[in-house]
Amino acid sequence: MLKALILGRGVSGRGAGELLEKLGFDFDFFEDGDGIEKVSDYDFAVKSPGFPPGHRTVKLLEESSVPLYGEVELAYRFMKGEIVGITGTNGKSTTTALVYHALKEAGRKAFVGGNYGIAASSFALETDGESISVLELSSFQIEDLTSFRGDVGAILNVTPDHLDRYGSFEEYLKAKLKMREHFDWLVVNREDPSLKGIKGEGVIGFGEGGEFRVEGKCLTGDGVRIDVGELPLKGVHNLQNYLCALSILRLLGLTEEEIYRGFSGFKGLPHRTEPVGKVRGVLFINDSKSTNVDSVAKALLSFERVILIAGGKDKGLDFKVLSPIIKERVKRVVAIGQAAPIIEESFSSLVEVIRARSMEEAVRLAFSGAEPGDVVLLSPGCASFDMFRNYAERGEAFKEAVRKLEEEVV
Ligand code: ADP
Repeated sequence: MLKALILGRGVSGRGAGELLEKLGFDFDFFEDGDGIEKVSDYDFAVKSPGFPPGHRTVKLLEESSVPLYGEVELAYRFMKGEIVGITGTNGKSTTTALVYHALKEAGRKAFVGGNYGIAASSFALETDGESISVLELSSFQIEDLTSFRGDVGAILNVTPDHLDRYGSFEEYLKAKLKMREHFDWLVVNREDPSLKGIKGEGVIGFGEGGEFRVEGKCLTGDGVRIDVGELPLKGVHNLQNYLCALSILRLLGLTEEEIYRGFSGFKGLPHRTEPVGKVRGVLFINDSKSTNVDSVAKALLSFERVILIAGGKDKGLDFKVLSPIIKERVKRVVAIGQAAPIIEESFSSLVEVIRARSMEEAVRLAFSGAEPGDVVLLSPGCASFDMFRNYAERGEAFKEAVRKLEEEVV
């Protein structure tokens, strides 16, 4: 019986385990911190994306004759039908969910997974010739692809993030651009400075200068016209997501009616510029999934008079690039978490910055400076791990604090 070593016991590792079990393989899990000196007992190894390339055990495997596959690469070996891969710094989950929703509504046999909280390995064996698997791909997952070949790939945008792992923006961009090698068609954002130069056979652009773009009030391209005003997701960032999804869905052969139906019925994912309530005319928006500077910028562009709650675990990003938009739209900043001093340092010459020790306090301090018509926006621009288990827990804490305020203030 073949025996595998699975690096990591998170969503990807457990998914790989599920697949190998169904195939009748034997396997052991390896967690970071476990000691392993001998890898030659294994026929192959599977790597979760959280293991960085320089990890000691990864290196040990690379130097041995034991083949090492990324988890998505493993899944690919057993996947049938068409494969879509969606990456980008921001908007991956939203666009992946949108494409999947439209495909399901159109009666296609669609699967969703990858970096989406569902391992591709967990459904690979259920796919057949009619299937379309929609995979959200992180840069870490793209790095680990080798013989993987999908049908339609897309890069939504590339802005600074994960510099703690990559060291420089160029290295991060390089990982994203590796998409080109792994898909027959590549959909790219023509308005993104790092992507607009990608041209050639099999490349489709969206945004200004691309095949799919906004004209007047409509999403257009390839004979399709969809009125943006009729669609539920708002903000410039969601226009990007719609255009990207439209390009992908046309390449997969969906009709204008099918795409329109899919788009109109998709109400968005929680924790992404999600309205959560109104107290005395002040709107509260939960954008807890915003963990880098560009997602904060896009959230700010979606509203006019904002009190911003930002901060969390710092990733070494430069908040000062937000200065013009902070100056234009933000009345007060409430800084939370480990990054609070950095937030304060970045913005205190532009706007009032106050610090809060908990989410409840942050919501109260934000509300105390708000007038009817203002928006209290949680868009942290940082990871959540200093105060919360993950972004979802942070978003729930925000919602809970807003609920309390609603009860007290009525
Ligand atoms: P990802 O899976 O790439 O993290 P999400 O769809 O979960 O993307 O959204 C993450 C954050 O980015 C949220 O704050 C959301 O409002 C914002 N966002 C969504 N789409 C875009 C986009 N196209 N450009 C910039 N920010 C976006």
